Amino acid sequence: NRRVVLASRPHGAPTEDNFRLEHQHVPSPTSGEVLLRTIWLSLDPYMRGRMSDAPSYVPPVALNEVMGAGTVAIVERSSHPDYAPGDWVVSQSGWQDYAISKGNDLFKLSGPVLKHPSWALGILGMTGFTAYMGLLDIGKPQAGETVVVAAATGAVGSVVGQIAKLKGCHVVGIAGSAEKCRYAEEVLGFDTCLDHHQGDLAEKLTRYCPDGIDVYFENVGGKVFDAVLPLMNTKGRIPICGLIADYNSTGLLSHENRLPLFQSTILRKRLHVQGFIIVQDYAHRFEEFFRQMSQWIAEDRFVFREDVIDGLDNAPETFIGMLDGKNFGKVIIRVAAD
Ligand code: NDP
Repeated sequence: NRRVVLASRPHGAPTEDNFRLEHQHVPSPTSGEVLLRTIWLSLDPYMRGRMSDAPSYVPPVALNEVMGAGTVAIVERSSHPDYAPGDWVVSQSGWQDYAISKGNDLFKLSGPVLKHPSWALGILGMTGFTAYMGLLDIGKPQAGETVVVAAATGAVGSVVGQIAKLKGCHVVGIAGSAEKCRYAEEVLGFDTCLDHHQGDLAEKLTRYCPDGIDVYFENVGGKVFDAVLPLMNTKGRIPICGLIADYNSTGLLSHENRLPLFQSTILRKRLHVQGFIIVQDYAHRFEEFFRQMSQWIAEDRFVFREDVIDGLDNAPETFIGMLDGKNFGKVIIRVAAD
């Protein structure tokens, strides 16, 4: 059993030295337990927060413990009445080949999702759910409004923009390369996508959002937020989903103090700004999401791109690259063949 543990806590951007690949015996399930074999491993930006011991909404990964993660796994052996060998499940078994579960953290997969089991970590899983709830429950987009989303070709952003299009909105994406922007416009169907590495983001946003911005789905923070804020319309909504531009920062407090500008904009424009953590705030609505998204997929209304990398040993390098925008789509590690 190979597993990747947290060897040390990063200062700034993580490096491969922060991780260690270990080998252990495959564990045996006792009564009421199942043995899971990981097939697909989800890598997500929130894991950067778990590597740090700064206070957060959940405890950090302990040093020398396996990195946590959502996975799609096959039940290999079972002493649990509800699971049989061969069952496909979503689990939280982390960066490792095999894991034991008592069944209470498992979600059994059946039906059409088994055509693409890894989608249960993406468009039909945590990231699709995040896009759906953050946009619809907090962003509340109305037909004809302008919706802006950054990390626009990523796991969350690509779904946000496509749902906004379904709702009849004008959608402007922001992404990290000309190739990603072309994809957002030509394949995802966004009205426009702007490259945040070009120096003229603020000027271009003004040009491509002629009626201002009604919903800004915040995935990144940083200079993208600076460009968006002045364009927010009165009564605009900002679901705060993630701030990936700052996840590797060490000196946030030394930045110019932008709080007064932010607060006065919220006041003058009567903005609704709300943070959310998908699992904590919306677990009770997962079924609604799953049903609706399954239907949209069956109707061929969504495109979902995965960035699949082979091999558990490539997880650290892939994760580090994702924080830097090297991924193109939902990052998934293929740990084993099914
Ligand atoms: P993505 O698949 O979008 O991958 C991350 C992307 O972030 C990169 O590809 C890069 O895209 C972009 N990025 C990185 N650094 C910067 C930067 N400095 N400025 C602008 N963009 C940057 O990841 P996810 O879709 O999984 O996650 C997107 C966001 O949603 C993250 O902030 C994440 O933490 C958050 N999230 C929050 C959840 C919640 O419950 N609140 C749940 C799930 C995700 P590009 O090259 O296009 O810039």
